[in-house]
Amino acid sequence: MKKILIIEDESSIAELERDYLQINGFYAEIEISGEEGLKKALDEPFDLIILDLMLPRIDGFEICRQIRSKKDIPILMVSAKKEDIDKIRGLGLGADDYITKPFSPSELVARVKAHLSRYERLIGNGENKVEEIKIGGIRIDRTSRRVFVNEKEVSFTTKEFELLTFLAMNPNHVFSKEELFDKLWGMDAYGDIATVTVHVRKVREKIETFSSEPQYIETIWGAGYRFKG
Ligand code: CA
Repeated sequence: MKKILIIEDESSIAELERDYLQINGFYAEIEISGEEGLKKALDEPFDLIILDLMLPRIDGFEICRQIRSKKDIPILMVSAKKEDIDKIRGLGLGADDYITKPFSPSELVARVKAHLSRYERLIGNGENKVEEIKIGGIRIDRTSRRVFVNEKEVSFTTKEFELLTFLAMNPNHVFSKEELFDKLWGMDAYGDIATVTVHVRKVREKIETFSSEPQYIETIWGAGYRFKG
């Protein structure tokens, strides 16, 4: 059973979220304090975090940043203000999705399901899955979600990791930006195709010796990107 942590100080909202998740077959736990929620998120094995932005003492931005520095699980941020969405995106905190209050519980459940299945599909969770990918000087350990470039560990955000892993698992295949967006961001209603370009640039900066002359991720003009295998 998938374990979800709800960090939310308004208990009526938290309980509504928990009840709907439980009806839909998830195990959900509520933490009303931001500090305790952060500690729990870091110490215990949750599959997804639903994180309210406005919390007393420590806000959701900081919690998201701290969880993301240690864990790659999906984080769904909840905010009462539409303006916050731009702020979440602008800060590049690595939140996977955003939902504004008030939302329908069924929408929340749908988002949770989509993120969990996308995450599983991308990282793989069964046997017969490739656990380590090695191409040139790049080694991707999918189990621990770590990337080594010439045996030096480099840290990646969730999306950067997913993008690199996806391309590296399909070497020599050209993917258009649209295809990459569908596969990696499809459930995020707020992203757009430009996000793909930004992420490819960030991944290149981390894996390429000279990001202007990429030896791993090639740009195929008018077509998209290809990972040279
Ligand atoms: Ca709140």
